Amino acid sequence: MIQDLAEKLFIDGEWRRGEGERIPVQNPATGEVLGHVAAATPAEIDVAVAAARKAFKIWSRLAPVERSKALHRLGDAVSAEADAMARTMTLEQGKPLNEAKGEILKLAEACHFYAEEAVRIHGEIVPNTTTDIDSLVVREPIGVVGAITPWNYPAELIGWKLCGALAAGCTIVIKPAELTPFTALAIARMAEKAKIPAGVVNVVTGPGSKVGQALVEHPGVDKIAFTGSSAVGLRIQQSCPTIKRLSLELGGNCPLIVTASADLGAAVKGAVRRSFRNMGQICIAINRIYVARPIAAEFVKRLGEAADGLVIANGIDKPDADVGAMASAEPLAKTKEHLADALAKGAKLVAGGASPEGEAFARGHFFRPTVVSDCTHAMKVMTEETFGPLVGVMVFDGLDEAIELANDTPYGLASYVYAKDMDEIRYLSGRLDYGNVAVNNVDAGIMNAPYGGRKQSGVGYEHGREGMLEYLNFKHVRIRYDEPKGR
Ligand code: NAP
Ligand code: MG
Repeated sequence: MIQDLAEKLFIDGEWRRGEGERIPVQNPATGEVLGHVAAATPAEIDVAVAAARKAFKIWSRLAPVERSKALHRLGDAVSAEADAMARTMTLEQGKPLNEAKGEILKLAEACHFYAEEAVRIHGEIVPNTTTDIDSLVVREPIGVVGAITPWNYPAELIGWKLCGALAAGCTIVIKPAELTPFTALAIARMAEKAKIPAGVVNVVTGPGSKVGQALVEHPGVDKIAFTGSSAVGLRIQQSCPTIKRLSLELGGNCPLIVTASADLGAAVKGAVRRSFRNMGQICIAINRIYVARPIAAEFVKRLGEAADGLVIANGIDKPDADVGAMASAEPLAKTKEHLADALAKGAKLVAGGASPEGEAFARGHFFRPTVVSDCTHAMKVMTEETFGPLVGVMVFDGLDEAIELANDTPYGLASYVYAKDMDEIRYLSGRLDYGNVAVNNVDAGIMNAPYGGRKQSGVGYEHGREGMLEYLNFKHVRIRYDEPKGR
């Protein structure tokens, strides 16, 4: 699949050999170069945006049921190619094959979910002060969307934007992360297979600072849908030269609170899953854990054992491994930096702390799932997003202290609670200043509920109906009627 997609851009329904600079894409588990992509030139970006504008006129006026059918076809095409697409993702991103396939199937689920939403874009009729007037509030698609996405979930994070936008009647130009462009091009291949009309879906590859920034500044792009770091999100917001609709899904620094009433086994299981899945490279990863003093020692012991028990491997060779390679040297270096900082400031190493040994790991970006205890808010592990397989643990005495510590961050994406006491659950979930609170589970985002961050974690929502509303404008049509003549 990769060779077939190398050096190509998908613009106006055609595969064009890119004219720009070649960028190598590496397998993070082996260091091997998988192929090259072309950095889209300003002229190619203009062609892509123009194609999306032209296609918008037709796509936005189609009957919603036709857009719905197209999205169902896309979902079917993605499911049918799930194995090949998952392989492409594992090769360029590093997550184990089974996990990659799960993500591809979730992309298919997003296609079908928004296919169903496409036929439910309702309006409202609003009462006026006199009865001769109807106020209709209708929803209309915004226009051309520029989607800019990161490398940690190379399929899903495109899918939510693509499917929400297409269901609403928008067209899209996608700029995927430089580390994982082939998954995006594979999605374009599926759009082609699903016979989505030319120009509705376009993919341009290349560096964010050039290609992404060009979409942000392009007068032909009506909305930017971005997922990535808070720093780049802020830059995008500040560098829009004209007013544009923006949705920004940004970084997190997500806390888990484990109270004395918690089911300890369940809390350990949840903590391990959400701290280390995808090597902690998840915006909603548990970065820091606050545990009630009476159960703290036992919790830390069991968490360390569970972390040490995770199977780490090249995810192509061992599809059911728990964790694979990290996506690049950058998040690995940050993980090591946060670990060194914590240990220097008095944290205790409970599990992991080094790269796994052996020939199989020698050339890849591997690191053992790592737990540190006795943490404080003087440490980066507790106050910055690590985006790697490292979690810090700190003890608390009262619920108010736990809440204060959990909210002591500029971020507000997701938070987690393990507790059995209903009063505790209500008290905590009402006071955690986060867009998502998961209690006695660690899956904060599901397809049919809105998912979004507060504070420096962003603006706007993905998932659910709300995820499609982000691609719609309201229009108020106010009509005055006369009595019919000769009634
Ligand atoms: P990033 O550096 O912000 O990059 C995200 C995307 O933006 C990439 O496609 C990147 O291109 C592009 N980009 C970079 N500079 C740009 C610019 N000046 N203008 C326009 N686009 C630009 O983030 P990342 O390191 O890939 O991903 C990790 C971050 O994403 C973490 O902070 C994580 O929390 C966040 N994230 C958030 C969510 C959420 O839903 N809230 C989900 C997943 C990840 P290049 O690839 O070429 O750099
Ligand atoms: Mg980056």
